Amino acid sequence: MHAYSLMYHDVVADGAFDASGFPGSSAASYKLERDHFEHHLQAITGTVARLGYDRVSQPETLLRRSPSRQPAVLLHFDDGGKSALAIADAIERHGWRGYFHITTDLIDTPGFVTPTDIRELDQRGHVVGTHSCSHPPRMSSLRFDDMVREWRDSAAVLADITGKPITVASVPGGYTSREVVLAADRAGIEVLFNSEPVSRFDWVRGCVVLGRYTIKQTTGADEAAAIAAGRRRPRWQQWAMWNGKKALKNAGGTYWLALRKRIFDARAGSRPDRP
Ligand SMILES: [Zn+2]
Repeated sequence: MHAYSLMYHDVVADGAFDASGFPGSSAASYKLERDHFEHHLQAITGTVARLGYDRVSQPETLLRRSPSRQPAVLLHFDDGGKSALAIADAIERHGWRGYFHITTDLIDTPGFVTPTDIRELDQRGHVVGTHSCSHPPRMSSLRFDDMVREWRDSAAVLADITGKPITVASVPGGYTSREVVLAADRAGIEVLFNSEPVSRFDWVRGCVVLGRYTIKQTTGADEAAAIAAGRRRPRWQQWAMWNGKKALKNAGGTYWLALRKRIFDARAGSRPDRP
């Protein structure tokens, strides 16, 4: 049984990258302009229909799937940027419902969704998941109690808004670990998505852990569709990149974050900070 999850962030009008989600050039590299996103949706939807894969819009369906079922394809939108409702309009036109993972400390701040937006997403059949309270820079380096608090408090905020228990989450920044999963399980999360580019299901106590494939501004529509189709080459490329980065992150720790910021600042043409 496989799940091909595509991880998006924001979808913005031409060039308006700071209008939704986290500002800055590093965050922008994960945002798509509307026309580009529309091409992605056309390519993915066509491919999934041709192959007869399941578009899984509800976590319960995901958990009840038998091993012989067709692969599942899921669309995710992380952070809780203001573009969520425009994204919902776009994906609904193609017959999809999405997984929207909300950073709860940012609700109702500039560039992010309001409680009314979240309620509407839920009522239109999209999945509302938590993406932590504060989007910590390195979730996996927090103390266990703080991890539990990040999951539990954010889930409580969203449950309060939607009137439903929150059982779905995604790991901010992809900084996962066994403790991050155990903390999510402790907080009542039943389905946890991380950023490992894998399609398998892993069970940790009462929580199923699933990977996701990262979609960036530079990801072409054909590549996104190839990932949704389960084609090996683009998935292996992401896997190789991810594991290379993971080695760097483990070796460099916070140095990796500083380096990443400098690379993006340099690309954006601003003068990078001195180390
Ligand atoms: Zn995030």
